[in-house]
Amino acid sequence: MKGFDTNLRLQASSPEFSNGFLPKRQNFIKLNRRNCYPRSSFSPTMLKLFTSSASRVHHLTPVSRVVGSSPVESPLFKALSQITGWNRRSTSLGHRAFFCSEPTNGEAAAEAETKAVESDSEVSDSKSSSAIVPTNPRPEDCLTVLALPVPHRPLFPGFYMPIYVKDPKVLAALQESRRRQAPYAGAFLLKDDPSADSSSSTDAEKNINELKGKELLNRLHEVGTLAQISSIQGDQVILVGHRRLRIKEMVSEEPLTVKVDHLKDNPFDMDDDVVKATSFEVISTLRDVLKTSSLWRDHVQTYTQHIGDFTYPRLADFGAAICGANRHQAQEVLEELDVHKRLRLTLELMKKEMEISKIQETIAKAIEEKISGEQRRYLLNEQLKAIKKELGVETDDKSALSAKFKERIEPNKEKIPAHVLQVIEEELTKLQLLEASSSEFNVTRNYLDWLTILPWGNYSNENFDVARAQTILDEDHYGLSDVKERILEFIAVGRLRGTSQGKIICLSGPPGVGKTSIGRSIARALNRKFFRFSVGGLADVAEIKGHRRTYVGAMPGKMVQCLKSVGTANPLVLIDEIDKLGRGHAGDPASALLELLDPEQNANFLDHYLDVTIDLSKVLFVCTANVIDMIPNPLLDRMEVISIAGYITDEKVHIARDYLEKTARGDCGVKPEQVEVSDAALLSLIENYCREAGVRNLQKQIEKIYRKIALKLVREGAVPEEPAVASDPEEAEIVADVGESIENHTVEENTVSSAEEPKEEAQTEKIAIETVMIDESNLADYVGKPVFHAEKLYEQTPVGVVMGLAWTSMGGSTLYIETTVVEEGEGKGGLNITGQLGDVMKESAQIAHTVARKIMLEKEPENQFFANSKLHLHVPAGATPKDGPSAGCTMITSLLSLATKKPVRKDLAMTGEVTLTGRILPIGGVKEKTIAARRSQIKTIIFPEANRRDFDELAENVKEGLNVHFVDDYGKIFELAFGYDKQED
Ligand code: ADP
Repeated sequence: MKGFDTNLRLQASSPEFSNGFLPKRQNFIKLNRRNCYPRSSFSPTMLKLFTSSASRVHHLTPVSRVVGSSPVESPLFKALSQITGWNRRSTSLGHRAFFCSEPTNGEAAAEAETKAVESDSEVSDSKSSSAIVPTNPRPEDCLTVLALPVPHRPLFPGFYMPIYVKDPKVLAALQESRRRQAPYAGAFLLKDDPSADSSSSTDAEKNINELKGKELLNRLHEVGTLAQISSIQGDQVILVGHRRLRIKEMVSEEPLTVKVDHLKDNPFDMDDDVVKATSFEVISTLRDVLKTSSLWRDHVQTYTQHIGDFTYPRLADFGAAICGANRHQAQEVLEELDVHKRLRLTLELMKKEMEISKIQETIAKAIEEKISGEQRRYLLNEQLKAIKKELGVETDDKSALSAKFKERIEPNKEKIPAHVLQVIEEELTKLQLLEASSSEFNVTRNYLDWLTILPWGNYSNENFDVARAQTILDEDHYGLSDVKERILEFIAVGRLRGTSQGKIICLSGPPGVGKTSIGRSIARALNRKFFRFSVGGLADVAEIKGHRRTYVGAMPGKMVQCLKSVGTANPLVLIDEIDKLGRGHAGDPASALLELLDPEQNANFLDHYLDVTIDLSKVLFVCTANVIDMIPNPLLDRMEVISIAGYITDEKVHIARDYLEKTARGDCGVKPEQVEVSDAALLSLIENYCREAGVRNLQKQIEKIYRKIALKLVREGAVPEEPAVASDPEEAEIVADVGESIENHTVEENTVSSAEEPKEEAQTEKIAIETVMIDESNLADYVGKPVFHAEKLYEQTPVGVVMGLAWTSMGGSTLYIETTVVEEGEGKGGLNITGQLGDVMKESAQIAHTVARKIMLEKEPENQFFANSKLHLHVPAGATPKDGPSAGCTMITSLLSLATKKPVRKDLAMTGEVTLTGRILPIGGVKEKTIAARRSQIKTIIFPEANRRDFDELAENVKEGLNVHFVDDYGKIFELAFGYDKQED
């Protein structure tokens, strides 16, 4: 390898060798075939191409002359001279550097070489017609040569090859022959070892060294190359191929010496078209091979310029030598003496090589593309990161995220339950391992966000001060003393126990009675945060229990969201409309709600998203419902129901005066002295516009009035000189400025138009309306025509009409039951019913018909009214669906009134379910019904006996002035309704 190294050094240090040529006297083109073959077998091989012209500098006969026509001044020679910077100095330098292993005999060796090539050329010249070169003196003396085995590829004439000779005897013989000025040997390719695995090159090499004599001879191909021993360095011998030889016989065994014939190419016709065409094809393929093969790329220019000048045989050898054909194919080329055939063989090899390089290229390209694609993506990602960072939208800065989460939990780390802390730690570790762009990263980040933001163990200080609570409740709500009392009791218990947990309050009542606002007041009184969510129509369990994190867009349930938004672990949660809970298709929302509310279970509430249990036992739940009956039983069991029945007129007046008006005034920016709403107007508003149980509509109407007043005031120019509300001094100034400018403007306007009569009037009116008066007379200007016209449909109910009391989710109301005769005739008795009655009420009507007939039969046995009259019973407000059993007694009375042709007592209303035997059963909603009766100016009410206690519990102002009778049998009602003394009224 030393020679090889030297060669490399030389190439690197002298510019003239940079093209890969090794200048030598014989115009060698050195080809470095290192790495050309997939296996290492060929790597150290160096091949030299013997080029054909050099005669101007050297007295050599150009090889081209052997085959005929090349001029002395061939273009190849010129090109080579240019490229290599050919001159004596550099040649000798190159020569010395490469070939002189021993400086002393360097010149001699060089001399010998020169002669050898010279004579070779001459011989070629003179014996061009002979296939076998006859023995001759000088190189042709070499009819007996040392046979050197070459393991991998045959040596082609014109190329050089280093081999390693391990046998000292052979080495000595080679040295000897160099010294004898006949430095030639025969290089023969080794045949495959039939016994050994030929794929192992090291084995092959080992085997050559062991082979001796006859054995070795048998393993050698017959045809080889006469090789000049160019140099010997250690065991490395560099051979330069000259001409083809064929072994004739063995001369001696150690070292193996053989007798040889020198072979000559068969004569051929230079001008033969087929040969020419083949050679052209070889040349063009060679050019392609050189171009496409990455190994030859550096030398393409040089070679492609000169291959056109090669002789045909040389061309074939060159092609075979540089392509990666296997040893057998190469040997085949070497053995072929027919030039045309040799060219064909070479062409085949090169085409194959061409295909290989094409495949190689596509492989290289594919790999390159893949790599460059990856690099591109990497680059773009890096750029994206940089851009995000620059814009401050860096979302995947993991360490910053982790730091943020850690910072969040740091202050109350001791309060966070251990199991939660563990999950947080685990998730933080996971976050670090995940790819920032992956979807799982986002899931984990959101999860951590929720886990860390919840107010673990963070409670607001609960206030159990009963007096303070009382003040707050009174501040916010008028009346409702029983409700307030219950709340205060609750707070008192909380004070004694130190905690208010474990109770669920349920406020029930018609809309607008203040259920929600009481909930808010309780939160204020207890100093808890307030959170409200409505479960009306809720059918999805996930709303309460959350989604599992695996779902896209998964969210925790309402309760967890609540804790996040209030920031304390003990808020007051108002669950609105619990009676309107939907029915879930997947899972039952009622049972999910139960899990949430039940004090037994909610200390370990498990939200699907959060996946860790949270303690909700400190949360105070308040539910609201319109109708208690609709609340699922298991839920109702755990609740403490506080019902708010609705307000009577008197209460509504107070609420309107003390609460609703104040807020409406404040909201509209109207000052108290600017408006005066008379008692009569307020009463009319309540009686004729807002008869429902709650006050929400009343609130709306009052707001409407105040908005209109505000508009009126602004229109009339009665804008406050000083700001009505100005907490901020700056703001006050601005408002004052505006006031001033408007005032100036008004003054101006007044001066300009002072001459005009109507304007003067307007100004007078402005002063007059500084206080807007609202009276019964002008109420309609503000709120429109009354919704409820006559207070009563009938001043005195006619025969067949009786007033009943009903109770709906909207509160109590009065309703008439009317009966009339359709036709009379023997056996025509029957009953038609209309008025959108439910099944229960229809049955009630049938029962009433039967009971009435029975009573009639008892009282006036001869009266055939029911037997012979077809009757029609109707309940007006036919568009409103009605149901319930409590109209039973009213229906009987109505039928009996018709039968007896006697109207019932004036201002009487009744309610109660009747059995077939005439027993009166209790009803619900006593308070609501009483309030409704009062609204309709009823003086006498009949209730079932069993409801006496309910009535007694009512507030005095509700009961005041009412004549109430409690009955347990219909007979009493009959007496009360019909047995009155006309004079009494
Ligand atoms: P609900 O929840 O029962 O439907 P809200 O709580 O929304 O009714 O009450 C409607 C409005 O009526 C609220 O503005 C509330 O302040 C007012 N309101 C109800 N009852 C009273 C009351 N007793 N005193 C003062 N304002 C009341």
